[in-house]
Amino acid sequence: MTRTILNPADETVVATVEGADVPAVDAAIARAVAAQRRWAALPPADRARALRRFAAAVDGAVEELAALEVAESGHPVGQARWEAGHVRDVLDYYAAAPERLFGRQIPVAGGLDVTFHEPIGVVGVITPWNFPMTIASWGFAPALAAGNAVVLKPAEWTPLTSLRLAELGLESGLPEGLFQVIPGPGSVVGDRFVTHPAVRKLVFTGSTATGTRIMAGAAEQVKRVTLELGGKSANIVFADADLELAAASAPGGVFDNAGQDCCARSRILVERSVYERFMELLEPAVAAFRVGDPREEATQMGPLVSAEHLERVRSFVPDDREVAFRGSAPAGPGYWFAPTVLTPSRDARTAREEIFGPVVSVFPFEDEADAVSFANASEYGLSGSIFTRDSARAIRVARAVEAGNLSVNSHSSVRYATPFGGFKQSGLGRELGPDAPLAFTETKNVFIAAPSLEEGTP
Ligand code: NAD
Repeated sequence: MTRTILNPADETVVATVEGADVPAVDAAIARAVAAQRRWAALPPADRARALRRFAAAVDGAVEELAALEVAESGHPVGQARWEAGHVRDVLDYYAAAPERLFGRQIPVAGGLDVTFHEPIGVVGVITPWNFPMTIASWGFAPALAAGNAVVLKPAEWTPLTSLRLAELGLESGLPEGLFQVIPGPGSVVGDRFVTHPAVRKLVFTGSTATGTRIMAGAAEQVKRVTLELGGKSANIVFADADLELAAASAPGGVFDNAGQDCCARSRILVERSVYERFMELLEPAVAAFRVGDPREEATQMGPLVSAEHLERVRSFVPDDREVAFRGSAPAGPGYWFAPTVLTPSRDARTAREEIFGPVVSVFPFEDEADAVSFANASEYGLSGSIFTRDSARAIRVARAVEAGNLSVNSHSSVRYATPFGGFKQSGLGRELGPDAPLAFTETKNVFIAAPSLEEGTP
């Protein structure tokens, strides 16, 4: 199963990658089982040092990883460089965890009670193509820090950065077999992670449809799962907001990464009294959004990831009926789609489904209650933004919106030191932040009888 990786900006061949079959996956999992036992037995300080060396190796390869990301994903080079630096930071942050992941002593009668956080074993990480290396690091870094081994299956279109990260791990001295990247189809490699009994936990990021299937499969073995799935996030702009700021930042909030972002603010809700003015400000901001060659430093948006995905995004905008205005994009070759602003009805397909492309829908709303109710009228609940100058309202609305990551007067969603994940069908569990390593452990409680003289022998 050989896969040809194409550059989405010009359709040239970047590489060919051999996919694994089931016996190869099983052999990798067997190596991971052996490596995990040795890794978990190391003193925490040794594991911490190994992860710091891995972070240093990634730091030395930021430009190389960024260039791979530009070539296989079409991400603008500035963004790709940020992504590679983020992987380094995530590794650095979790390198502290092996020495800080301690249990607790709980006072009980009759003895000593101790809780331990034991590694789960082998963790299977399945990643999507939209942010291939950053999302990979959210799984493998805290999992390794907590004493686990990792087998990782990258998305078929974008395996190159993950493959290079596994090499950097080995080059920096990680034990053989501890962190393996296994490319191949989801139906073969990913499915084997789900069914193999030695893979004790799955971390999946991707579509809600595949995540549901994985969760059902994992249930057969009561396998632990963390799921990061789709989104249809709301950007709520109140009449008292800094409208210039809200309009200038809105394109970045949805068109970054060509809208192939689970946190994309793909529904803009604008209070009716300022709706016309907001649209007047939004149009030039969209026109100014720089779409083009991802190798150029000034580029803000590159192409879509593949011809197949381009067709899917096009299917949402078959004609101009819902289109308010568009930005511009190169004609081709490459998988280009211009930033597009729609004004559909609230029950239109474009208003409800995740498009995962540079398409945003704008809606007027009547008052705060209407804004919250429409923001929550979605099966998803990942992110959202609130633009207002009223701080009490900002807090009130942020508490009322059913989503895992909200931002006020900003579109920031991801910081490695804070938890990330979704409500409702946007996911299960949280990644990143200080508690992430705990999600890769089993809690064990041990009671040691040590009665006091008054209690006597039990
Ligand atoms: P996808 O579900 O098609 O694929 C994701 C991964 O799952 C790929 O590696 C794929 O090979 C694998 N896979 C497919 N079928 C499988 C199976 N039967 N068993 C095991 N693995 C299987 O998703 P995608 O198109 O790559 O990614 C886009 C989606 O990801 C969007 O819906 C987006 O919202 C979501 N996403 C969510 C987050 C988040 O953190 N919530 C982040 C990024 C992307």
